[in-house]
Amino acid sequence: MSAVRLGCSGRNDLRRAGPSQVPDNSPMQSELETTPDTRAAAAASGGLHWRNGFAGLGPAFSTALQPRPLPAPYWIAQSPDAAQALGVDAGWLASDAALQVFTGNAQLPGMAPLASVYSGHQFGVWAGQLGDGRAILLGETVGLAEETGWEVQLKGAGPTPYSRMGDGRAVLRSSIREFLCSEAMHGLGVPTTRALCLTGSDAPVRREEIETAAVVTRLAPSFIRFGHFEHFSAREQTAELRALADFVIDNFYPECRSAEATAAFGGSPYAALLQAVSGRTAEMVAQWQAVGFCHGVMNTDNMSILGLTIDYGPFQFLDGFDPAHICNHSDNQGRYAFNRQPNVAYWNLFCLGQALLPLIEDQAHALAALESYKTDFPRALLARMRAKLGLFDVAETDHSLTESVLQLLAQTQVDHTIFWRRLSHWVAGMPGQGAEAVRDLFLDRAAFDAWLLQYQERLGPSDRGAAGVLMLATNPKFVLRNHLGEEAIRQAKLKDFSGVHTLLTLLQTPFDEHPEFESYAGFPPDWASSIEISCSS
Ligand code: AMP
Ligand code: MG
Repeated sequence: MSAVRLGCSGRNDLRRAGPSQVPDNSPMQSELETTPDTRAAAAASGGLHWRNGFAGLGPAFSTALQPRPLPAPYWIAQSPDAAQALGVDAGWLASDAALQVFTGNAQLPGMAPLASVYSGHQFGVWAGQLGDGRAILLGETVGLAEETGWEVQLKGAGPTPYSRMGDGRAVLRSSIREFLCSEAMHGLGVPTTRALCLTGSDAPVRREEIETAAVVTRLAPSFIRFGHFEHFSAREQTAELRALADFVIDNFYPECRSAEATAAFGGSPYAALLQAVSGRTAEMVAQWQAVGFCHGVMNTDNMSILGLTIDYGPFQFLDGFDPAHICNHSDNQGRYAFNRQPNVAYWNLFCLGQALLPLIEDQAHALAALESYKTDFPRALLARMRAKLGLFDVAETDHSLTESVLQLLAQTQVDHTIFWRRLSHWVAGMPGQGAEAVRDLFLDRAAFDAWLLQYQERLGPSDRGAAGVLMLATNPKFVLRNHLGEEAIRQAKLKDFSGVHTLLTLLQTPFDEHPEFESYAGFPPDWASSIEISCSS
């Protein structure tokens, strides 16, 4: 990006725009409605029905606007799995009308496009107003079961009142990474926003160099972030803050109004909400740590109120296990290093607690609600580690067994994914997969042997089969390593999207063996360690 960096560490000295302003340069609705593409799209709705709950909150929360069209769009990829979850008609999704809709060039009847306003703490500093600077919510669909809806959002669909100095666009490379990682995380069973499809256009986008534009269509029950609450709280707009909290509780956390949930908090559903969000966040971060996922930009505006992984930027799956790994090249202080993620999540929850204080009223209740994270997170992590080790029951020694293997891995930065998969193969008794293959990963073989002995004792002789099955369904063979993404991006820049498609298939089923794709499960090449992923996207 030219003069101002927007992603990751935007500053609050940028131009501010309040809600409900239509950007000067947005195309007028009437212009769009008269295009042939729009008429074609209107003719077929893709089987989607819209109800737009968030838009119903009113103009204080968002600005109605149209996406800015991109010239001559083309398909890059679609996720059939996400399409099925959304319930969109597969035939329609293959059509040019769908291509236009999911590039932002046309709308379907019933959509109510908008950009929402939020604020947030970036790198520990209050950044003031941010908002959807390049994400446009098309609307919310009524799900197959009626009560479950999906918000459908375009990322990179043009400027909004919250773009500050940005262009509202996303480039091909970062969009491929977000598309693939959303679906990879879902494949791993990690709570995440989803990605329906990815389209591109040769329209130039200026970053450090000229690149091309892409649009990811993201899906989530809601894209509300901690930062939405911080926004109204900081402005002392308590009525809006309450409306937002009530919306979230009514739609996603109805149990927070029960006598049971509120008993410890003097009857406050808002404290119960804080506790429930803390619980979901603890579970999400425990899953990140267990699979070796580094988010890279855990600013409060990148924290989902539903405990979903959101906003894939300079993320990374660890290659060698380095607990202090910093995946974001722009994160000079290492605030978001891998092993800091659990504490940062707590810090972020604290910001959410502070934002909710006008509703919770009693500070002691807010603190009590946050306190649960301190037990929820270690409990969730240990449960994940037990599954990684194929353990079904609980023993007091599990914590130290886990810690000692992680220390061994860290000592010589053993490849995280390969270690766990090889261990799983061995426990499962797969042919040709002896303990040697695991042992070979360590320099200090004696230390590893000592650990293995303890582990074997803990595992016991009788339940190896079941343990192996659990481990093979917990420790993935395929993760979106940086170099795999880079290779697919390189091809895609030459208009060959087959690498993206292959990765999507593998990452959606990362626990399957896929023997014909062994090279995707191997050690990273030397050049992988020199890949630098920053906030520029
Ligand atoms: P991120 O770090 O990607 O989560 O972005 C932080 C803030 O900057 C959010 O408000 C984004 O909408 C905004 N932003 C990032 N890139 C752009 C861009 N190219 N155009 C407009 N806004 C952007
Ligand atoms: Mg963000």
